[in-house]
Amino acid sequence: MIVYFPVIYPDELVYSWFCRYYVHSGCFSHKMALQYLYCKRSDNPNKEFIGNLNHEAREQIDKIYSLDKLILNHSMYPQYARFVPLEQKKKALYRLGHDSCDIHQLFPVLSRGEGERYLRFCPLCVREDREIYGETYWHRSHQIRNMRICTKHKCMLMESSVPAKSEQSFTFCPAENYVCYSEAVFENDSLMIRFAEYLDSIFSAPMDFDNDISISSILYDGMSRTKYLKPSGRSRYTKMLADDMNEFYRGMGICNIASMYQIQRALLEGGVDFSVVCQIAFFLGMKPEELTAPSLTIEQIKQERNSHYMKDAVPVDWELLDAETAPVLEKLAEDVYAGTANENGRPERVSERLVYRELGLSGHQLDNMPRCRAIFERYTESYSESWARKIIWAYKKLKKNGEAFCWTDIRKISGVKKKNIQLTIPYLMKHTDAEMADQIMKLINDY
Ligand SMILES: [Zn+2]
Repeated sequence: MIVYFPVIYPDELVYSWFCRYYVHSGCFSHKMALQYLYCKRSDNPNKEFIGNLNHEAREQIDKIYSLDKLILNHSMYPQYARFVPLEQKKKALYRLGHDSCDIHQLFPVLSRGEGERYLRFCPLCVREDREIYGETYWHRSHQIRNMRICTKHKCMLMESSVPAKSEQSFTFCPAENYVCYSEAVFENDSLMIRFAEYLDSIFSAPMDFDNDISISSILYDGMSRTKYLKPSGRSRYTKMLADDMNEFYRGMGICNIASMYQIQRALLEGGVDFSVVCQIAFFLGMKPEELTAPSLTIEQIKQERNSHYMKDAVPVDWELLDAETAPVLEKLAEDVYAGTANENGRPERVSERLVYRELGLSGHQLDNMPRCRAIFERYTESYSESWARKIIWAYKKLKKNGEAFCWTDIRKISGVKKKNIQLTIPYLMKHTDAEMADQIMKLINDY
């Protein structure tokens, strides 16, 4: 039972709150605190959200703060869900509070680039927190993608040693123990400050749960006031826009600049990534309210819809798209294959369907992209082989836990069906040493 919960601080991440709960509750171990809060150890709670709480924890927490409020005001939900379609936005809010779910199924989550891999903090906020609360905590607004400065103090954010993504073995890392002493470095570039304030105001605006206006319509409206849309409204100059944006943000020293491909998706197919959309809108000079509380007429929305079917659309530059997509695909394939793309860490088969879905490709487009095709083929494997890798992964995971286990446990966490087990045998040796293959075979035969 959870005896005591500290008060949650303004803009504090739920993860941070749980870290402080761990410190203050007198739990002896992470394991114990995790058991109080979560359903099972393999849940791998997410640092940006709440995680799969067990029934008692959910009930008790809901009495102190409603789960919806926690998600809206203390998780990164306003970032990831900001531009997704209305139904998806509502569904995600519900599922984050009530279901065990994989966040990658709720909304797109870009892989992390330079400067986004660790939880960040502001040295002056740390000092202030300590004065006011006696301890510091992880602030939500410091973790926004591409956020470089603390908008309150106009100084550079510092990286801690705590990874921002969820890890295989989850630990509570309270900010108080993980921020190092650092001198504040002030940002003088007024453009950079404006950009940070822009991200901040879009992130912290109330979520719109009434209107369902697609982000591509909103951006189309923004473009209509610029040279990037033909006066007729029938041609977008996407390549020019992407080139100009690239130069602009490179000049500012932004790390994760939206690629031509990402920009194209946001404009045409409703790519909804927060960082990409904000970069486009800021560059186009759109006001934050245009994004967070859009007021487009039906006529304006229709105009954008129609523009998708224009005949004079820019032909796709396959060579460029191939070159731009290759590193993205490499990372994606690597993560999926090794399991790091997965909340639970399970390796998966890199299927053609997954590649098409994740990269937003259609038809046989991969055939026009030789570099990407080569990467995909390098990761291609049969189902049987991927099952073998999953079994090995499950075996290692269970072994690491140190408790006795049987074949059923392996089957459960590997997700490999009973009827397919025999098919995996030829591949066990390929992916592990003789000893481990023997031990796994023994378990199969005992079963
Ligand atoms: Zn600050």
